[in-house]
Order: sequence, then structure tokens, then C-alpha cells
Amino acid sequence: MHAVVLDGRGNYETVDKPRPVAAPGEVVIEPAAVGVCGTDLHLVIGDYPTGKFPVVPGHEFAGRIVEIGPGVEKFSVGQHVAVDPNVACGTCADCLAGQPNLCDFLVPIGVTSDGACAELVAVPEEVTYLLPDGLSMAAGALIEPLSCVLHALDRTPALTDQRVAVYGAGSIGLLAVIVARAAGARAIHVVEPSPARRKAAVDLGADEAVDPAAATTSRNVDIAIEASGHPSAVAAAIDALDKRGTLLQMGVVSSERTIPLRPYDLFDRELTFVGSQSVATSFAAAVAMMPDLGDTVERLVTHTFPLTRYGEAIAAAHSDSALKVHILPNETEN
Ligand SMILES: [Zn+2]
Ligand SMILES: [Zn+2]
Repeated sequence: MHAVVLDGRGNYETVDKPRPVAAPGEVVIEPAAVGVCGTDLHLVIGDYPTGKFPVVPGHEFAGRIVEIGPGVEKFSVGQHVAVDPNVACGTCADCLAGQPNLCDFLVPIGVTSDGACAELVAVPEEVTYLLPDGLSMAAGALIEPLSCVLHALDRTPALTDQRVAVYGAGSIGLLAVIVARAAGARAIHVVEPSPARRKAAVDLGADEAVDPAAATTSRNVDIAIEASGHPSAVAAAIDALDKRGTLLQMGVVSSERTIPLRPYDLFDRELTFVGSQSVATSFAAAVAMMPDLGDTVERLVTHTFPLTRYGEAIAAAHSDSALKVHILPNETEN
């Protein structure tokens, strides 16, 4: 089968690999749509702490089951499924405490084990979820990023009637806008440098979207969702918080970077800072929510590429106009 392989030094290749075989408790999936996300952009250049190379990327995906391994009872060949890429150990203190995303023995599919940028991928059945009837593969491949947003928002107070600001209108920021709107946020303010992404934010339910250079500090935000990963946006988000406001750090800021922080601000305004990483236990909730959001969410997919054009997909994902780039591994180029 064909698969994209990354070496972690900026190179990628489409290679021939042996077909995976479903081991006990595994299913083999023919991926139909695979999202490219910020993690992949870091992974390509080896700038991701848990990346193991060489690796087949692709951790946000949906596809069709083509083989089931011994002992698999929940699934059958032909079913459409999505996959929570985080395979946790299930027995450590973090796993037992219901926070498998923090498991020290986590094996994320497409990061440390081979992912879905291939004609086939084998995954454990316990991370496989049946797609709701009629849901498109494009929407199915967006369940993973939606589950990251749902987990993140589990870490903040409820959004209902809150004044929300979203920093960074990439696919995660835009999913946060969609979910905040559905949750009854009072106001949604987006800060984003790309005009195309600002327009998308307003189309998807933000009240306004402004360039960071034009943003003013008025301390009128209850919940600031940092989804850009830029240190300057983190600082701006903290500055925008009203009394008792909450900063939600979702963006991956390079581990080398720091921001100036005045502890007085935490004290004086009684601020709360929370972090959020990956899916935790929110995948099933995202599967259940997706049919209600499907049509809106599919508008996030601005570019699609076959497997053989992985480099173009990465370039597109870096561009200002991209919202979500999908690889279609089983679509042949013609
Ligand atoms: Zn991702
Ligand atoms: Zn564990």
C-alpha cells in the first residue's frame, strides 16, 4: 500500500509499505478523509516532543472498516468509523483518574505510531467509534478536533451568557466559535490576522473578528480561548479578561517561549488560567454532537489533496486562506 512517511527533518515521501494486518482487538480502516493540523506542521519538521520517526502522519480521520482482527465484536467490515488517536495505557494513575490524555505511556496514532496518511491503517477497537448514520467522511474527520474543543471547554465555566474571545481562527478556533454559539454565549469576539479566517469566523457565528493590530484592550471578556499558540496572543488574552475571567490555553506555544506575566493581575482581578491538551474523554460526546453541526462544520474544509500531494497539502495548511486541509488517501489522482 502507499503511505506518506515523515523523517522529522522536513522531508516526506510517498512509499510502498506492507499492508497492515488486524491483530487481536484491532480493526483495519481504509481512511477516506484525514485532517492536517498544527501538530502535523510541527511533526513534519521534527518540532514535536513526542514524535517518533520515521512515522506515517494522520491522526484526525474517518474511514471504512475493511478487516477485523480476532476477538473484535463491536464492529464489522464496511462500517464507517472515526478514531480517537490517543491510545492510553488504561492502568496508570492518570488513566484511572479519567485523564488518559495525560497518560505517561500514551501512544498517539499518527505521532508515535503509524497514522492514516496511508491507504490502510490498523487501530485498536477501543479507540474506534461508529459514525452516526449519514454523516460524511469530511465531518467524521473533524470529530477529533471537535473533541479537543469539547474537552477544553469542560475545563472552563459554562459558556452560556458569557462574553467569549477566541484568539486564532484556525480550525480549532473556528470550532470553538461554532460550539460557543451553540452553547448560547452572549458575545463572541475573534482576534485573527488573516482576513479570510476573520470572514470565516463571522460566517460561522462570531459577532466580530478583528486584526490583532487593531484589537483594543477593554477588559470585557469572561472566557478567553487562546487557540493560536502565539505568545503575544496569550498576553493579549490575559489583558482582555474582566474580573474573575478565565484564560483557556489550547494553542501549542513552542516550549522555548515565555511571556511577561504580572502576578498582580491574577490577584487583583481573581483570574483563572487553565490548560487543555488533546481529547481526554470527550470523543464520544463529539461523535454525538457532530450530526447537529455537520453541515456548518464541513465548510471548514477548504482544501483536499490525494496522498501523493502531501507536500502541497502542508503548504496549503501553512497558507492564510486555509481553514482545514484534508488528505483523501484512497482517492486516486486523475
Ligand atoms: Zn490534530
Ligand atoms: Zn495511562
